[in-house]
Amino acid sequence: MKTEVGTDICSALALLQKGQQVAIPTETVYGLAADANNEDAVLGIFSAKGRPHANPLILHFAQLEQALPYVQAFPEVFKSLAKHFCPGPLTFIVPKSSLVSALITGGQTTVAIRFPKHPMMQQLLNDLGRPLAAPSANLYGQLSPTTAAHVFAQLQGRIPYILDGGACTEGLESTIIGFENDRVLIYRYGSITPEQLAAHLGYTPEAKVHEHGGVLTSGMVKHHYATQTPLYLGLKPQENTSQTLQILLQDHPNVAEPKMILSDSGSLVEAAQNLYATLHLADQKGLQRIFVETFPDEGLGAAMNDRLSRAAAKFQ
Ligand code: AMP
Ligand code: MG
Repeated sequence: MKTEVGTDICSALALLQKGQQVAIPTETVYGLAADANNEDAVLGIFSAKGRPHANPLILHFAQLEQALPYVQAFPEVFKSLAKHFCPGPLTFIVPKSSLVSALITGGQTTVAIRFPKHPMMQQLLNDLGRPLAAPSANLYGQLSPTTAAHVFAQLQGRIPYILDGGACTEGLESTIIGFENDRVLIYRYGSITPEQLAAHLGYTPEAKVHEHGGVLTSGMVKHHYATQTPLYLGLKPQENTSQTLQILLQDHPNVAEPKMILSDSGSLVEAAQNLYATLHLADQKGLQRIFVETFPDEGLGAAMNDRLSRAAAKFQ
């Protein structure tokens, strides 16, 4: 199959209406979308990515009203969070209605829903008038894509079209939240920080981001978001440094080349925007090892540390 890259929303729409899979831009990372009401189309997402069927997909809607028929109950606190943060990078886990196929939820009774902010995705969802099921547009377990070129490198020949909406502005996946015992919980760290949620909720939501038996969220799988080059957390050893690349939040004169810097000013927001693109570039250098400095455990640092520790887990 030939994979085209373009900016034509009508072509993307026509392919989605025919039950094909299309890579689409969002503010977080690129997604691999299909008509959520067409089971064959959804199955195509799993085969294009090589993703296990037990890992559920997120349903994307333009706005909350469109999502309501697909959920059984949407708690009041979620309504107020949605009003504040959506459209935007926040995903809600809620009980599903019978309209949602078990293929999408991995057989669970809950469904993940999100309202992406990217204007192309908003237009696509409004024109389609149906939800799009979409995980990130990468091969299973590999680095998430934040440009159309990243998607092409991994999925060329597997999908007909990549809708190019430029580089993703957030650069990290959405934050996934659930609701248990009258409290909001974080299931996956992401672009909305715990501090932002706490400012709105009046308490810091507890994180439940580890695997407990069954896979609740694929982002909880221990090995994930991985480079091909062995990746480690922390500062690189002093000796034998030419084959060892260091990725730093901010430049440090004590660290020798080769090195890559995520943000000249040390901004975690800028570092998050650059993280996956930097890892893609680092991976292409063909070096023996990549070390990535751990981030302060605040703001977006928590999400970046989470992704990197899952990537590094593959090489332990
Ligand atoms: P991805 O977009 O590739 O990061 O994948 C979508 C994320 O949403 C994965 O981590 C899924 O496991 C998660 N997800 C989707 N549906 C559910 C659900 N019902 N419960 C928990 N997590 C979910
Ligand atoms: Mg993913």
